[in-house]
Order: sequence, then C-alpha cells, then structure tokens
Amino acid sequence: MKIICIGRNYAEHAKELNNAIPTEPVFFMKPDTALLKDGEPFYYPDITKDLHHEIEIVIKINKVGKHIDEQFAHKYYDEIGLGIDFTARDLQAECKAKGLPWEKAKAFDNSAPIGKFISKDKLGDLSEIEFELKINGQSRQVGNTKDLLFSFDQIISYVSKFVTLKVGDLIYTGTPSGVGAVEIGDKLQCYIKGDLFLDFEVK
Ligand code: MG
Repeated sequence: MKIICIGRNYAEHAKELNNAIPTEPVFFMKPDTALLKDGEPFYYPDITKDLHHEIEIVIKINKVGKHIDEQFAHKYYDEIGLGIDFTARDLQAECKAKGLPWEKAKAFDNSAPIGKFISKDKLGDLSEIEFELKINGQSRQVGNTKDLLFSFDQIISYVSKFVTLKVGDLIYTGTPSGVGAVEIGDKLQCYIKGDLFLDFEVK
C-alpha cells in the first residue's frame, strides 16, 4: 500500500507557513514504513530538532481506480479515520529553500501515525466533519472539512490522473492551521466530533 498526502489544503494553514494558496491539489507520498499503528509510541527521531504535528482526516481506498471522475470518486472510499502527518519542519524548510523534494522531512519511519477507521456513513455530511488534536489534554488544532480547498472527491479524481489508487491505500487530506512542535513526553489525542480516534505518546 501507499500513503498519499495532500499539502496546503486548508487556506489558513497555507498562510501560517507563508505558502501561496494552491489552485490545484499538492500531493506527496510516504512509504508504508511510515505507518505507526495501534497507539504505539512515537520515538522522537534524531534527524530533526523541530518536529511538527499535523492532524489530518485520512480516507481509505477500497477499490482500484485510475482516471476517476469526480462524480464517481465517492465509490472509491468507504472508511475515514485520523492520522498525524509528522513533519521535520527544519528539514522541510531547507528542502524548500533549495527547491528540493520534501521526502526526508515527511517520509521518515513512523511519520504517519494512524488510528481507527469508521464507515463514512456513520459521519453524516462529509463536508462538515469537525476534528481536533489535543496535546496533554489541551486543544492544539481544530479543523472542519467545510474549510477544505479540495474535497475528498476532488483529491481522488486529481491524484488518480497520475497514480493508480489501490485497495488499502491511504490519503491524508491536509492539515488545518495550528501546526506546531511536539516534545518528548507529549500525549497526542485526535478526535472527530468528540470521539477518540488516535491516542499515542511521543517518547
Ligand atoms: Mg500534512
């Protein structure tokens, strides 16, 4: 399986990192070795001194597809969860300054913690899902899919022009504003509408 991540998909987040608001989806990938499951602890890597949290809604692909029309895109995913797109912000800044790809800042081992998934039918209107990251019990990021620049269906349609989507692939759909550093000892908890989806500690 592969992990596809969408960058700059919430205007307020694009602005907080001084990025332009994109006119088409920005995507990059993480390898399967980036996944961190089952609430396992995340060990702070020695490659960075500025590790940032990015809470994101994650959709799980359930059907093989290429060149998927936007109007049929909803048939290609049936479950939704939450994940963290851990980012070595210092390395990313270096890469951006040099015009290089971001992979070393984004695709390192365990950089994609993932929690439980539930049927999208249980969430009601997918264009208004509120989600939240708490660190040590304090609210740090709150997002709502009503603020997405590109909807889940638009993302699937766009990405599948370039990359065949396969069963089990995950799409991290972008982070809202409020990204920031995590420290060793932090406890991260991710919620959709108050329901705990992901819970782990940084060690
Ligand atoms: Mg992200």
